[in-house]
Amino acid sequence: MSFAVNPPPAVRSFPFSRSPIARTPRVSLVVRSGAGVSIATAAALPILTKLQNDCATPLPVLRHVADAMATDMRDGLAVDGGSDLKMILSYVDYLPTGNERGLFYALDLGGTNFRVLRTQLGGKDDRVIATEFEQVSIPQDLMFGTSEELFDFIASALAKFVKKEGGKFVLPNGRSRETGFTFSFPVKQTSIDSGILIKWTKGFAVSGTPGKDVVACLNEAMKRQGLDMRVSALVNDTVATLAGARYWDNDVMVAVILGTGTNACYVESVDAIPKLNGQKTTSGRTIVNTEWGAFSNGLPLTEFDREMDAESINPGEQLFEKTISGMYLGEIVRRILVRMAESGSLFGKRVPERLRTPFTLGTPNISSIQQDTSEDLEAVGTILYEATGVDSNLDARKMVVEVCDTIAKRGGRLAGAGIVGILQKMEEDSKGIVFGKRTVVAMDGGLYEHHPQYRRYLKDAVTELLGPELSSNVVIEHSKDGSGIGAALLAATNSIYEH
Ligand code: ADP
Ligand code: MG
Repeated sequence: MSFAVNPPPAVRSFPFSRSPIARTPRVSLVVRSGAGVSIATAAALPILTKLQNDCATPLPVLRHVADAMATDMRDGLAVDGGSDLKMILSYVDYLPTGNERGLFYALDLGGTNFRVLRTQLGGKDDRVIATEFEQVSIPQDLMFGTSEELFDFIASALAKFVKKEGGKFVLPNGRSRETGFTFSFPVKQTSIDSGILIKWTKGFAVSGTPGKDVVACLNEAMKRQGLDMRVSALVNDTVATLAGARYWDNDVMVAVILGTGTNACYVESVDAIPKLNGQKTTSGRTIVNTEWGAFSNGLPLTEFDREMDAESINPGEQLFEKTISGMYLGEIVRRILVRMAESGSLFGKRVPERLRTPFTLGTPNISSIQQDTSEDLEAVGTILYEATGVDSNLDARKMVVEVCDTIAKRGGRLAGAGIVGILQKMEEDSKGIVFGKRTVVAMDGGLYEHHPQYRRYLKDAVTELLGPELSSNVVIEHSKDGSGIGAALLAATNSIYEH
């Protein structure tokens, strides 16, 4: 008996399928048998192949996600707890018109950073006369501290900022300052200026806040700081972004945040919200905060996602957010690289402790890695070394670029499918209102803003799903810092004073 054994060829080339924009220069991974580290790269290859299969988002997967998003929205509008999507009523029934006047503050607690802003509004003609803002990063320990510590920190930063007010910013005599409070965590609103925190997300685990009114928490902290200011609108960052974008463009119907976390909101007709039990708003519309980060139906997940989820502070929750948002993309990539390093010796024999440390590779690193189009991928090597302590040869770097692209591509395309799901739901209820005319989706968040490939993947998925004709009416537009000004605008719209 004889066996025909095909020896592996001395040189094998593995061309990777890459997106057009990530293609320059075209990278093909050359694996030489017999050369130590290159064999290691070959050993990591099956991990990459499996990853690319598990993360694939062909049209049927996108279609399923869009359809399921639309269905989950409906179920969440029918009854509280009706689906993964909470479909929270924002109590924002009016969007800015341009007529707003006066000095308004905004305060934005998002995740990584905390921003304070003031704006002087001059009505239809003068619009935004002046805006100033400051950004403060949230000390890590406050994310795990007590509610009082966190809100005291916020109120004290705000008090310092207010002290610097002057110039074009004028508060009429006898008035208290008013602020919009952008609070980007799931809140059960009870009115425009109160809301109970349902739970912390995005890595926050502050004790004592869930179940409490976050406006009351802030008001008490402002009082402790001796600050005369009133919260006149509590809004989610998506709602604020929608308001900020609508101030300039009447066709804005949806807002999506892709930053540390992710969320989306849109303009809904009150008739389409059964859980309102016939309650009307005078405008007949209201903004619904989907809390789409909790979506989970039919996502193409990998073992790496499951492990990350299991070790997270909220296992089983926020699965869409964990697949598409900035807090997690880098961490997913890190987990894949650890596997490649361990079972494939991708970075040599030693796996540095830092590579094993959760969250050492950030999503900004992923984005930077994808911007390196040089022959030797030197920047990739530097980023990897600085962030995780690994030494990489060219083949390993190419592998890393592929891993980053796979995770960014899945994230961007799924985000795009989610957007189509929202538009689809709106269109089904109001034929022609969405697809029959120009409709703007306002986008914001650090991930969307700073990650060009992700943006491209997102838009490609929208176009693939809608087809060229319908998608030509859908404008996906970056609304930079719309949430800050949007919250101030909503403070104006909901001011206790006439303006
Ligand atoms: P937040 O969501 O905390 O309000 P941002 O909208 O500013 O704040 O988003 C910050 C997040 O955006 C970061 O946590 C990071 O995940 C992501 N991000 C920031 N810079 C980049 C970048 N260059 N590439 C990709 N993602 C980035
Ligand atoms: Mg934010």
